[in-house]
Amino acid sequence: MKDIFRWVEQSLQGQPVPETGGFLTGKFLHDKQADSFVSWVEHFVPAEGVDYQDPVLLAFGTGPLLEVDRYLQAQPGQCLIGWFHTHPGHSPYLSATDLHTHEGFFREAYQVAIVLDPLTPAFDTGIFSRKTDGSMNNQIDYSHWFQWKHTDIYRQMEAN
Ligand SMILES: [Zn+2]
Repeated sequence: MKDIFRWVEQSLQGQPVPETGGFLTGKFLHDKQADSFVSWVEHFVPAEGVDYQDPVLLAFGTGPLLEVDRYLQAQPGQCLIGWFHTHPGHSPYLSATDLHTHEGFFREAYQVAIVLDPLTPAFDTGIFSRKTDGSMNNQIDYSHWFQWKHTDIYRQMEAN
């Protein structure tokens, strides 16, 4: 969470603030009886040197994908758990482009997409997973967002 926060904070220096993102690695467990997955996000690999970024679009390009591949090869036991990106000022949800990205690169049932709006006071965040029918949760499935700045981890960071 700290690494993601620092990466998002860095993007707030941009004028206007561009979308930014990266990859989530960690572990997962398949509960075969319940046909469900538990995923743990343990590391954030920021997407540096992306192909294109502006306030409403982020194109990772091949460089960052190769970078996360290298990371995973060097860290046996770590899996690609999903991806992270920001929506500065346009709320957390998966756009048609985002869904296309997810279907292209994150097809596994345990993989998630995290979207954070860095222009909201508490960093409103959606953590989107697959439903049992394979479709993705989206903003319609949420009554409230995860609020980054209301977590103990954030408070500890602020205090240091
Ligand atoms: Zn998006």
